[in-house]
Amino acid sequence: MKAARLHKYNEPLRIEQVPDPVITDSSDVIVKIGGAGVCHTDLHLIEGVWAETLGTELPYIIGHENAGWVHAVGSAVTNFKVGDPVIVHPVMSCGKCLNCRAGEDMHCPNLKFPGLTVDGGYAEYLKTSERALIPLPNDVNPADVAPFADAGITAYRAVRRAAPLAKPGTKVLMIGMGGLGHIGVQVMRELGNSDIIAFDRNKDRLNMALDLGAVHAVEANDRAVSQVLSLTAEQGADIIIDFVGTDQTHAESLQMLRKGGTYFVVGYGGTVKVPSLNLINNEISIVGSLVGNYNDLYQLMELHARGKVILHSAKYALDEANDILKLLHDGKINGRAVLVP
Ligand SMILES: [Zn+2]
Ligand SMILES: [Zn+2]
Repeated sequence: MKAARLHKYNEPLRIEQVPDPVITDSSDVIVKIGGAGVCHTDLHLIEGVWAETLGTELPYIIGHENAGWVHAVGSAVTNFKVGDPVIVHPVMSCGKCLNCRAGEDMHCPNLKFPGLTVDGGYAEYLKTSERALIPLPNDVNPADVAPFADAGITAYRAVRRAAPLAKPGTKVLMIGMGGLGHIGVQVMRELGNSDIIAFDRNKDRLNMALDLGAVHAVEANDRAVSQVLSLTAEQGADIIIDFVGTDQTHAESLQMLRKGGTYFVVGYGGTVKVPSLNLINNEISIVGSLVGNYNDLYQLMELHARGKVILHSAKYALDEANDILKLLHDGKINGRAVLVP
C-alpha cells in the first residue's frame, strides 16, 4: 500500500510503497482509511519532540486522526463487519486493566497508539482493535469526520471536564481557535453556561469562533491580557482552556485567571511556571487534559449527528502530506486538513 513514513527526524516524510498491515491478534481490525487528520502532534513527532518519551523505532507511519471502512476483521471480532464505516478511537487499549475498566483508555499501561507508537493512518490501511471503533451512520463520509478522532475528542474531553464549572455568569477564555479550539467553542456552547471569550492571533479564526458561539473575541497581541481583564471586570476568567500551550500562553493565562479559577492545559510544548505562593494565595487549579476516552468520542459523535458540532476541514491527497504539514507549521490551515489516500 501507499504510506507516508517518517524515516528521519526533521526531514520530510517519504511517500512510498510498504507492506499492507495484517491481522495478528483475534481482536484486530484493518481499516481502509477514508481520511486522516493532520495534527500539530504530527509536526512535533517529525521534530523529534516525542522521540525520547515514546522510543518508537523509525521508520513508521504517522497519522492518528483516522476514519474509514472496516476492511478485515480478526476471528474474535463480533460487532463489526467488512464495509462498515467507522471512526477510530486513537488508541488500542487492552480492556482488561483497572484503567480500562474505569473507562480511561488513555491511561491503559498496555496501550498501543497508532501514529505515535505503531503505524498510523497516513496510509491506505491501518491496523487497530475492535475496541477502538465507533460506528458511523451510512450517510457520513469518514473523511469528513476523521479529525474528531483526535482534535475533536481532545477538545471535547477538556470542555466536558470544565463544563460543570461553567455556570451562568462565569467567563471561559479559550486560547487558540484552530483545529481543536473551533470544536471546543461549540462543545462549550452545548455543555456549559459560561460566556465564551475566544483568543487567537488570526482575525478569520476569531470571526469563525464568534459564529460558533463565542460572545467576545480577543486578538492575541500586546494589549490582549488587559483586554481580557477588562472583559472580566478586572477579575480574570473563571476558566481558561489553553489549546496552544507555549511559554507565552502559559504565562499570560496565569495573569488572566481569576482567584479560584481553573486553568486547563491541552496544547503543549512550553513550561508552566507558577510560584507556590501564587498557587495557594489565589487558590487556582491547573489541570492537564490528554486526548479523551471512548465515551468522550462517542458523545462527541452524538453531538455531531444532531448537528450541534460542525467541523471546518478540507481534504487533500496523501501525496501532498509534506506540503500540508508545512502549511500547518506556518499557521496557514484554518480548521483541519484531512489527507485522503
Ligand atoms: Zn492529534
Ligand atoms: Zn488497559
